[in-house]
Amino acid sequence: MDALYTYFLRVKHGPWARSDPSIVQRAGSLQLIDTTYPQAASSLEVSAMRRSDLFLPTSRATHGGGINTTQLLVRAGLIRPFGSGLWGFTPAGQRVRQKVIHRLQTGLDSIGGQQVCLPGLQHRQRWEQSGRWKTFEGEMFTLENRDGQVMCLAPSHEEGMVHLMDGQIRSYDDLPLLVYQIESKFRDDHAYNGLIRCKEFTMKDAYSFHANETSLDTTYNDVRGAYERTHTDLGLEFTIVEADNSVMGGSTSEEFIAPVEHGSVELLSCTATECRFGISDEHR
Ligand SMILES: [Zn+2]
Repeated sequence: MDALYTYFLRVKHGPWARSDPSIVQRAGSLQLIDTTYPQAASSLEVSAMRRSDLFLPTSRATHGGGINTTQLLVRAGLIRPFGSGLWGFTPAGQRVRQKVIHRLQTGLDSIGGQQVCLPGLQHRQRWEQSGRWKTFEGEMFTLENRDGQVMCLAPSHEEGMVHLMDGQIRSYDDLPLLVYQIESKFRDDHAYNGLIRCKEFTMKDAYSFHANETSLDTTYNDVRGAYERTHTDLGLEFTIVEADNSVMGGSTSEEFIAPVEHGSVELLSCTATECRFGISDEHR
C-alpha cells in the first residue's frame, strides 16, 4: 500500500493533539493481506420492546477492579463478570451488542462483503500447515479431545478462511471475494479491562481473495472506507494509525484508535477537520 502511505505523507496536517498517555485504546484494526496467503446481513435488527418488559438487573454495587466504563455497564445491567476476561451479556446488553453487530454487517455488506461462520474449535494440523501453531503459543487455548487429538480454540481465522475457500474458487469471475464473520475468538490474554481485552470476545474479521495486487488495493480501500463510515456512524472519535503486522503477517496494517479514559497507548493525532492521521507510541 505504497499509494496509501504516500497519500498520508502528502496530506497537510493541522495542529497536533497529544493524548494523555492513559486515554487511548485500540478500537479495531484493519490488515492488508497478500494474495497468496491470507491474512474481509443477516437481519439481526433488534425488534422493539417495552422498557417495562425488559429484564434489566441494575445495581448500585461496584464490581471489584475494572474501570469506570465497565462498572457503569455492570451497574446499568448490561453485562456481568464471569471471571478475569470473561463477560456475559444480559438481555439489555445483548440488544446493544446485536445493534452494533448489525451496523458492522451493514458496513461490510455495502461493499459486497459476504458473511460466513467458521468453527471456533479447530484441529492442530491446519495451524501446523500455516506455520502458526507455535506463533500463538502461550496465547492460544489448546486442548486434547477424547481421541487424543490436539485442538485449539481459534484466536484468529486466517487458516479457517483459507480452508473454507480452498478449491472452491473456480475462476477469475469469483474474484475478488470479500468474506467476513462476526464470531467468538479466544485468546489467553492478560485481561486488561472491561470489554476491550478479553479471553473470549466477539470479533468482526474480514478476509479477501484476489487475482492481483491492484484488486487487493481497491478492496483494502473499500474496507477502509466502510470502517470509517461504521466508526463515524457509531459516534466514535477515532484516528487511523500505521500499525505492526505482528503475527498476522502481510505488508500493511492500520489501526483505528479511539480515545478512552483508561487506555494503554499514547496517541499523537492531527486535529484538522476530517483528517484521521495519527501516530501511536506502538509504531513510530
Ligand atoms: Zn492531518
